[in-house]
Amino acid sequence: PVRVRFCPSPTGNPHVGLVRTALFNWAFARHNGGTMVFRIEDTDAARDSEESYEQLLDSMRWLGFDWDEGPEVGGPHAPYRQSQRMDIYKDVAQKLLDGGHAYHCYCTTEELDARREAARAAGKPSGYDGKCRVVTPEQKAAYEAEGRSSIVRFRMPDEAITFTDLVRGELTFTPENVPDYGIVRANGAPLYTLVNPVDDALMEITHVLRGEDLLSSTPRQIALYKALIELGVAKEIPAFGHLPYVMGEGNKKLSKRDPQASLNLYRERGFLPEGLLNYLSLLGWSFSADQDIFSIEEMVAKFELADVNANPARFDLKKAESINADHIRRLDVKAFAEACAPWLRAPHANWAPEDFDPAAWEAIAPHAQTRVTVLSDITANVDFLFLKEPVEDEASWIKAMKEGSDALLRTAREKLGAADWSSPESLKNAVLAAGEEHGLKLGKAQAPVRVAVTGRTVGLPLFESLEILGRERTLARIDAALA
Ligand code: GLU
Repeated sequence: PVRVRFCPSPTGNPHVGLVRTALFNWAFARHNGGTMVFRIEDTDAARDSEESYEQLLDSMRWLGFDWDEGPEVGGPHAPYRQSQRMDIYKDVAQKLLDGGHAYHCYCTTEELDARREAARAAGKPSGYDGKCRVVTPEQKAAYEAEGRSSIVRFRMPDEAITFTDLVRGELTFTPENVPDYGIVRANGAPLYTLVNPVDDALMEITHVLRGEDLLSSTPRQIALYKALIELGVAKEIPAFGHLPYVMGEGNKKLSKRDPQASLNLYRERGFLPEGLLNYLSLLGWSFSADQDIFSIEEMVAKFELADVNANPARFDLKKAESINADHIRRLDVKAFAEACAPWLRAPHANWAPEDFDPAAWEAIAPHAQTRVTVLSDITANVDFLFLKEPVEDEASWIKAMKEGSDALLRTAREKLGAADWSSPESLKNAVLAAGEEHGLKLGKAQAPVRVAVTGRTVGLPLFESLEILGRERTLARIDAALA
């Protein structure tokens, strides 16, 4: 049975790299009828926060993920927050010490730095040199008399470690590249290097899918796993797969501090979760050669690790937006109208929530749905319906109110006043006729009308918009523009 885990640390806002990792794990679990374990790696009290923890859960729910074991749902390996599992790590660390797989290291930071520098200068590997691998009882007593503290260090085997990465194929790490490493701090706090594989073992994780930035910890974890198997703590070494880097601006790795990387940004701009997930799934995976728009169910049905690519993926905001726009078009109009609610009910400039007119929104929604890229675009597209006065975007006025606009507007006002308001067609004919009198084609003739009525030079189809706004308000706005 497939058991995967998503195990973020609650530090700061969730970022798109994290979401991609969650998505691939989740899709892999669902595709294989496996189990998705959600674990919170909150052993770093200085960096973790309850607020980030709440945000993580909220983000996972918003994205539509579910998990079979983890916070709020529980499971056979509870608790799923590492901060509540400290006794377990203490116990395993002791077992590792007792079994000779780990040792106390008394080297001070200054000593380590000095030896690292010397090794570097001599062109030798600069990782930990194994000085405390053997400490006689006399030395130990002397160190302790000096008041030195010790960390716990894992003893790496003196042989190469080879494994088959599910994405990158066979990889080999030689001992000089993987020195002994710390697993428990001097103050007794266990480190990621210990708690992560220990929990993977105890939670019987079969596949570890995570970002390439963690590749260097894999040989260490495999060695630790071997020790855990010997001690009867673990059963089997999981398979590992490392998802490719995501590159941002200037072909640099997208960092979590990059504003473009923040999940909240996409949420606030009104990406649909399915649009965002569709896009993120393409960072290292592809659905098929000729289709890049699909539903999450379609993704799950097709998701195979064999199709994950080891090459770095490029984060392309334009593409993300265009995929999102496609998902907006796919909604049925009722779902679209509902998805827009947060942007319509929020107060905006001089438009109060009570100015919102549900009937007008229902009429305009189908026109808006074919044009917006993200849901927050809706505001500028429909505000003319709810504002008492249209916004006066000054640039729009100047652009549209070229010489002769007043004369055109006056004629258009007259013809619109006399038109039949039951269809956009007759409103269009009114503006067309007004244009003809002034030697203007429809495009030129409708620009000042649009600006006078909506305050903007671009927007939804004009004559439909006028019809929905209504005769009285339309004429009043033209009058105001002419005054
Ligand atoms: N808590 C680790 C992180 O957020 C998990 C890494 C892993 O998947 O092993 O980076």
